[in-house]
Amino acid sequence: NEFEDYFLKRELLMGIYEKGFEKPSPIQEESIPIALTGSDILARAKNGTGKTAAFCIPALEKIDQNNNIIQVVILVPTRELALQTSQVCKELGKHLKIQVMVTTGGTSLKDDIMRLYQPVHLLVGTPGRILDLAKKGVCVLKDCSMLIMDEFCNDSFAFILQADKLLSPEFQPSIEQLIRFMPTTRQILMFSATFPVTVKDFKDRYLRKPYVINL
Ligand code: AMP
Repeated sequence: NEFEDYFLKRELLMGIYEKGFEKPSPIQEESIPIALTGSDILARAKNGTGKTAAFCIPALEKIDQNNNIIQVVILVPTRELALQTSQVCKELGKHLKIQVMVTTGGTSLKDDIMRLYQPVHLLVGTPGRILDLAKKGVCVLKDCSMLIMDEFCNDSFAFILQADKLLSPEFQPSIEQLIRFMPTTRQILMFSATFPVTVKDFKDRYLRKPYVINL
């Protein structure tokens, strides 16, 4: 397969090639065409396999840059991962006019509120902060048609050590509330290195006929 096979926007394809990607990695080959059809995805893939671009590429493709509203939210468990992920989006989307914003706990809420007065198309952040902003009405998610969850459960010890995992008791209630601010037609893409049992319940409740990728 080639990136050309996905009929991506030319500006996005330029960003992909400028980043030095020549061909889609196996996880990208599986997830990009499926995500572009609008289907939900539950994907298991190790770090270092090109997982980030596997969801950033369809997200950037789907965003209408002329519609100045949040269209995609990427949830991650830590600020560091939020910064890394937004960096990948900015690089891949270098030739697009897509505004990416990072928002996580531990930073000024006021600054985030100010930044949300500017156009934002893609929001990357941690669940609690995004929920706070949604509840205040400054982060409008009614046109957010894609929710991506990365590292919702990242290692085989997740059932013991649930810190820093999106489906931990710390994050899951916020995620469930956030989903209620989004349209009922939203698409959900979930990526992780492992699928513990806790995922099944979430999947059954929120994903619609998800395409399961197990690499
Ligand atoms: P990730 O699994 O998202 O952490 O990506 C691991 C590394 O692979 C990063 O340095 C990416 O820039 C790189 N990468 C992702 N996709 C590709 C690709 N299709 N071709 C070459 N490198 C890639």
